[in-house]
Amino acid sequence: MNKVEYISTRDNNKNKKSASEAIIKGIAEDGGLFVPSIFPKIDIDLKELSSYTYQELAAYVIGKYFTDFTKEEIEYCVTNAYNPTKFDEEIVGLHHCDNISYLELYHGRTIAFKDMALSILPYLMKVAAKKCNVKEKIVILTATSGDTGKAALEGFADVDGISIIVFYPKGGVSKIQELQMQTQKGKNVHVIGVKGNFDDAQTAVKKILSDNDLKAEILKKNCVLSSANSINIGRLVPQIIYYIYAYLQLLKYDKIKKDEKINITVPTGNFGNILAAYYAKRMGLPVHKLVCASNTNNVLTDFFHLGKYDKKREFHLTNSPSMDILVSSNLERLLYHLSGDDSEYVNLCMNNLNSVGEYSANEKVKAGFDEFAAGFATSDETLSEIKRVFQKYSPYIIDTHTAVASYVYQVYADSNKDERRCIIASTASCYKFLRAVCPAVSKHYKEETDDFELADQISELSSVPVPNAVSDLKTAKILHDTVIEKEAIVQAVLEKI
Ligand SMILES: *Cc1c(COP(=O)(O)O)cnc(C)c1O
Repeated sequence: MNKVEYISTRDNNKNKKSASEAIIKGIAEDGGLFVPSIFPKIDIDLKELSSYTYQELAAYVIGKYFTDFTKEEIEYCVTNAYNPTKFDEEIVGLHHCDNISYLELYHGRTIAFKDMALSILPYLMKVAAKKCNVKEKIVILTATSGDTGKAALEGFADVDGISIIVFYPKGGVSKIQELQMQTQKGKNVHVIGVKGNFDDAQTAVKKILSDNDLKAEILKKNCVLSSANSINIGRLVPQIIYYIYAYLQLLKYDKIKKDEKINITVPTGNFGNILAAYYAKRMGLPVHKLVCASNTNNVLTDFFHLGKYDKKREFHLTNSPSMDILVSSNLERLLYHLSGDDSEYVNLCMNNLNSVGEYSANEKVKAGFDEFAAGFATSDETLSEIKRVFQKYSPYIIDTHTAVASYVYQVYADSNKDERRCIIASTASCYKFLRAVCPAVSKHYKEETDDFELADQISELSSVPVPNAVSDLKTAKILHDTVIEKEAIVQAVLEKI
């Protein structure tokens, strides 16, 4: 078997780390992100692979990337993560509407796709810590645009030897998202609202994770830091699984022919989920275009269309809050891969991003844009897409993030006359964004109606029962209500440790 090691996107000397080391560190010392030294290939015939269960496929894919894990260690992680206590009967769902297949990634405990990776990350981290002989307590720092926070809290709550601190933008998440985090139980969890946006929180967290003086100070308290954001390679790899799984399901149920190329559309914020689809493609999955869908914070659309990444623009609060992001961290990994592993170039880009707020794609990177398409949807277009899908494919109701992708794909397919089958990553349950979804599908929406009543209305319209993740919140106690200035994030970390 080919050994896969991990390199920092910014390390010109290409020092190699094992998967375990990369997972424990979360981010490289030079501030770069860990990337695999090679892309392992799918080496089992797709027809044969299509008989695998989700768990079997998960073990196969993870085994390809985390080559320092034993078969037993991977089994341990996979069986503890992907089981009926953490997911609905089906780990993921596929809902077909003509040539579109919505890949429902919200059948986990927090009803957003973040569960797909964050249900396994704690186990990967436990195994990795043992392998690396880590004796200190691991403190997970997480910035969230709304969904990662809850999924990480749920995953790490009461895990021995690990504690977790989550920072979310106060006022920048939905009511349900905030309640989910504020009511989180567990003796090792901390939830803090930040007066700022997601980018402020993520920038602070990334800075702390690569601040060597601060880390030395924290080590004195017998703690080491890591991350549950998609900058951690332990998050990214489990996200590859479901794209392959979805393709295999399409094959199994004759929606596509053997080796037929499909498109994949992903509602994108931090560029993690779509990067996982790109990794699946690099492993040999037959994919034509990867369509990158944004909301009004359309910095990625401009990047793919103009070849320039420019974060100097107004930040918008939209009805797809988990994508309200202007600094997409994982794009750094794509730059590395498309530039031909050119860390010097990546350093240049990241320095420019820090100093002048922008960077440009070089010729090599631009050549790689061929594999992508990009577009964005405004909040109004998002709502009209929810309505369109509900009317045409009644009683199916998609959430706002999924609707952004769905809208962008319609525009792409129409203007390119592309009739291929497309998988659209459906990243959250519509029950998470009731305030936005309800008016789009119900004539009786009233502003004063409370969220739980709205949930009942959606249930009636969609014939999908209200998920426990929502109904349980009705009686749950608020346990976390701290709000801080964005300048106080470092101090908050030191206090909580
Ligand atoms: C996090 C999130 C996204 C964006 O995913 P990235 O990996 O950050 O691009 C999209 N939709 C929902 C519902 C999310 O929670």
